[in-house]
Amino acid sequence: MAQNHSVASPSTNSLRHKLLALPIADKLHFDPESIGAASVDYGHIVQEIPEAVLRPSCPEDIATLVAFMYNESSVPSTISARGHGHSVRGQAMARNGVVVDMTSLSNKGHGGITVSYSQSLGHYADVGGHQLWFNVLEETLKHGLAPVTLTDYQYATLGGTLCNAGISGEVFRNGPQISNIYEMDVITGTGDFLTCSPQQNADLFYSVLGGLGQFGIITRARIALRPAPKRAKWVRMIYSDFSAFTTDQERLISRHRRDRDEALNYVEGCLLLHRNAGNWISFFSPSDQPRLMSLLTEHKLLYCIEVAKYYDEQTQNTVDKDLEVILKDLNHVPEFKFEKDVAFLDFLNRVRAEELRLRPLGLWNVPHPWLNLFVPKSRIADINTGVFKNIALKNNITAGYVLIYPMNKDKWDDRMSAVTPDEDIFYTVEFLHASGFGDWQECELQNKEVLRFCKDNGIKFKRYLPNYGTEREWMEHFGPKWKTFQESKAKFDPKRLLSPGQRIFNHN
Ligand SMILES: Cc1cc2nc3c(=O)[nH]c(=O)nc-3n(C[C@H](O)[C@H](O)[C@H](O)COP(=O)(O)OP(=O)(O)OC[C@H]3O[C@@H](n4cnc5c(N)ncnc54)[C@H](O)[C@@H]3O)c2cc1C
Repeated sequence: MAQNHSVASPSTNSLRHKLLALPIADKLHFDPESIGAASVDYGHIVQEIPEAVLRPSCPEDIATLVAFMYNESSVPSTISARGHGHSVRGQAMARNGVVVDMTSLSNKGHGGITVSYSQSLGHYADVGGHQLWFNVLEETLKHGLAPVTLTDYQYATLGGTLCNAGISGEVFRNGPQISNIYEMDVITGTGDFLTCSPQQNADLFYSVLGGLGQFGIITRARIALRPAPKRAKWVRMIYSDFSAFTTDQERLISRHRRDRDEALNYVEGCLLLHRNAGNWISFFSPSDQPRLMSLLTEHKLLYCIEVAKYYDEQTQNTVDKDLEVILKDLNHVPEFKFEKDVAFLDFLNRVRAEELRLRPLGLWNVPHPWLNLFVPKSRIADINTGVFKNIALKNNITAGYVLIYPMNKDKWDDRMSAVTPDEDIFYTVEFLHASGFGDWQECELQNKEVLRFCKDNGIKFKRYLPNYGTEREWMEHFGPKWKTFQESKAKFDPKRLLSPGQRIFNHN
């Protein structure tokens, strides 16, 4: 029996009463602290109160809950797997339902991280769906290996990023994280445990990847590994001209097709504004900061290409020469190229370092009204004029990072649920707003203005980490994939139990 459920005795027909009759009753929590923690996320915008929180110790506990909910028709409810709660709009919440705190799962057996090798796959790891990518990285590094694609932030769970895609500056050459999965164990919305891969239960496999948690709870994934480099040459170059900035970014991401070994490992970019200088300025040395700020004062808006070239003992003598060749003839502002040499792990932990800097200042647990768009290459210049210059610069409220970098569509698998624009190259444009509690609505208004501009100007964008309120909007979002998405929902979660916080099939 749960030690901390409330004193009021639940009516015999209530969800709580029925939950307490299950063999997992001692893992269900109803106390205000557990409920409170499951009702907020990194976004600090949405709050939904669940009925209970399940802290499973093994996947069977989750299957017990799902099977009960599937078979119980008198108290319709919902279930949300919660990874690290780093969603920004309540995607891992379940109003009046049960939130499954995935982080309580055991790290033993299939819940752990096991590195293996096979002739057909090379090195791979079997990883519990609740594991943080940082833990995966730490474990695989012991074997001199690393996951093929990592995001900018390693403190999300495997299940959490695979529901979306898992993107970063590595995607142009390695594809998103969902493109580097061989196999998964999933508990579907009917309470069944299924292993899926391109060869086995393929419809479940492709539906789950990028599927926003709608078809099953991932309890294990087999992920691709690569040899881990030791260090990274980390370079930032400043542009005042947008066309030069995007031309160079596209040139850099195309290079890997000609010569993969000599290409960069990572290509991103961002906007430099006065208002968000607090975020990006610390990369540059104190002696460089004044000339950067005066260039920014002159232009009001600058663009920064950020790249990395990894290296190890074998390549340490050639990396500088290789980098010089790759970056020669780029059209950044002369003399505005800045380089650092850092350990591979420090490079991957750069956002975590930022987190540790912001936390004591009280600037981490604040509202994050993010807007993440994928924009086709043919319209990216319109985003510069219509959004960056005419909206962001004028409003002057964008205090977080604004990322902008291109990706190659052929690194994505269109059989998966994730949706991308219909062009060979598309850009991610991410307004990573961090605001005070009083003014996040201003950022929301700006987000609406940006979306209206895109719609009014016929820009066929897709949202990443999408968030819509109506079925019509979701239909538009998924486009031709909507039919399959609906069919998979009917097959794998017919009672619409899973991930209600995404508000795709649960609109109340
Ligand atoms: C600081 C920061 C930096 C970020 N950087 C990046 C980045 O570089 N690239 C990128 O792609 N994203 C990035 N994100 C977004 C992040 O990857 C997603 O929000 C991700 O979903 C968070 O993972 P989580 O474990 O916190 O998931 P949660 O927020 O806990 O859950 C997200 C969704 O996944 C579902 N879910 C969780 N676990 C499972 C599971 N095991 N099986 C099935 N469904 C599950 C939930 O029900 C929910 O719908 C960043 C987020 C933050 C806060």
